Amino acid sequence: MLLKLVLFDLDGTIYLSGKLLPGVQELLQKISRSGLNCAFMTNNSSVNPDDYLKKLNNLGLNAEPKNIITSCEATCLMLSDLNLGPKIFVLGTGRFKKYLAEKGYHHEEKTPSAVLVGFDLELTYQSFTQATRLINSGVPLVASHPDAVCPTVDGPLPDAGMLLAAIKAGTGVTPQAIAGKPNRWIIEVVKKHFNVKAGEIVMVGDRLQTDMRMARRFKMKSVLVLSGVTKSSDVKKSRVKSDLVVDSVSELTNKYWFGKLGWL
Ligand SMILES: [Mg+2]
Repeated sequence: MLLKLVLFDLDGTIYLSGKLLPGVQELLQKISRSGLNCAFMTNNSSVNPDDYLKKLNNLGLNAEPKNIITSCEATCLMLSDLNLGPKIFVLGTGRFKKYLAEKGYHHEEKTPSAVLVGFDLELTYQSFTQATRLINSGVPLVASHPDAVCPTVDGPLPDAGMLLAAIKAGTGVTPQAIAGKPNRWIIEVVKKHFNVKAGEIVMVGDRLQTDMRMARRFKMKSVLVLSGVTKSSDVKKSRVKSDLVVDSVSELTNKYWFGKLGWL
């Protein structure tokens, strides 16, 4: 295969609790010297792509807007594909609502064409009640990403998947579509930013059910890192497989460099 793009998950792969993991800079420099592209992909929809760009630049990583792939942009592609909008009831943060509004999708309480579940750090009983009412009245349900929890140093935070589970428990309704990993809309964002086919991409990430599952589904190469949520005991139990398992990305710089794996 001829590898063109290295796609990195962020949390648990590139950084942990906002701190860059060891060896990240060296690996990114080697990737850039080798003429490969790289991009950073996250399912987190609580902040927008510009916030991620600033965050990565503040961590000392050279990133441009095209290097940032988030479920925010994937959500817009999904809404457009499904002909939903422009009025959407958003269970999400003000940042997410602002991003969506800039793309033409405005938060609407009363007569939306869909209920969109994101990573809602600003959830209130009132907003959850309104979402429930809308879903019960037949308004289609969609989500930015499926992750049940978001890992932090203080333990996991309830994420979009947990809200979806609560919605299912109370209404019996499951989402019609989910934009982020492991689904196709976030891959379409990658294809929009880079002229690549799925077979020319390697996905490096810490989650079996999103990162590795997406790589398998779209026939991308895959590297699972054990620096995040997945432990080596989980790897043996899981039906989702990856091409390579490493302790952290630093092992990709020399020991498991893509050239040595025959991927260049
Ligand atoms: Mg991760």
